[in-house]
Amino acid sequence: MDREIRAILASVIHPETEENLVDGGFVDSISATEEKITVGLRFRKSRDPFAIKIKNRVEQLISDLYPDSTVTVFIKQVDNSAAKRKDKIEQMKSNTTTTSIANVIAIASGKGGVGKSTVTSNLAATLAKMGYKVGVLDADIYGPSQSKMFGVEGYLPDAVQVDGNDYIVPAEVGNIKIISIAMFIRPTDALLWRGTMANSALRQLIHQTAWGELDFLLIDLPPGTGDIHLSIISELKIDGAVIVSTPQQVAVADVVRGVEMFRNPNVNIPVLGVIENMSWFTPAELPNNRYYIFGNGGAARYAAEVGVDLLGQIPIIQAIMDGADNGTPAVDTTSEVEKYYRQTAEKVVEKLLKKC
Ligand code: ADP
Repeated sequence: MDREIRAILASVIHPETEENLVDGGFVDSISATEEKITVGLRFRKSRDPFAIKIKNRVEQLISDLYPDSTVTVFIKQVDNSAAKRKDKIEQMKSNTTTTSIANVIAIASGKGGVGKSTVTSNLAATLAKMGYKVGVLDADIYGPSQSKMFGVEGYLPDAVQVDGNDYIVPAEVGNIKIISIAMFIRPTDALLWRGTMANSALRQLIHQTAWGELDFLLIDLPPGTGDIHLSIISELKIDGAVIVSTPQQVAVADVVRGVEMFRNPNVNIPVLGVIENMSWFTPAELPNNRYYIFGNGGAARYAAEVGVDLLGQIPIIQAIMDGADNGTPAVDTTSEVEKYYRQTAEKVVEKLLKKC
């Protein structure tokens, strides 16, 4: 019976696509017994103007051949939601606000607690002091801290509409625009976020924040390597990655994996180098002494080994921690801190320019 029914379906032509129902893939299911024949049809458009006509025609033809059977032909609803979502993403990407950003730098670390966020905020503040227009995107969904670092905790971004598109207004501190995932979710909820939710929120932050013209956008990535990294990497062109590590953490597998992730041929993001944080401690009363609390020269050795640059070394300085707690990056208040960051920032800029 199936064969006969299939032959009937093959004799019906869709007027628009000019394919018969079988070859055109319009047949979803056939179930046939002596008493009951049920055929499911599927159309590509959710509102195909010929659907009802075709359904009635098929019902008629089958009933003519099997007058004693109960014939039901139904139209299976197509699920367009995935396609619609894809369209929306494509539209967001084509209206992206990132077109006037000259350089995008991803800041990564193997593990949490090595100072990645502190380095991001101080590097951003240093670049701003050097006269650049800077943006910071806090994508660290596991410990978003840029709002705190820049003293804009509690900032709730406005949305503005321009030509029917929604834009997110970032916080602004001096020459720096800041947007953080923490402005949209409670930190306690971050760990409960499923990957897709985090990815779609970050996609919006990347493409819909009113960045304007920027010389540098610094992205504070979550520690380690994972889906979030890969999806951010696929959203926009990243010009270079900076790895932050403490001296003793630098050679551990997480950092190695991080470098490998950026260097993977499918990712292909230049690793600008490593910033070693918490390199040594100098007590105020012994200004000529350096105590290498977390080991000496770890990052330099590692950098040479994997063939990346050592971009800078930042010692342990009380003012850096105080600045992070008070909401003013320490480079703005403490010249000693600024000195270390200025050298580092100059190297980062130089490396980016050389690449071009
Ligand atoms: P991560 O982003 O890697 O998790 P954070 O930037 O939050 O790390 O830094 C962890 C802690 O270390 C913070 O309390 C920060 O103030 C402190 N810290 C980071 N770098 C330094 C430094 N060079 N000197 C003193 N304290 C630092």
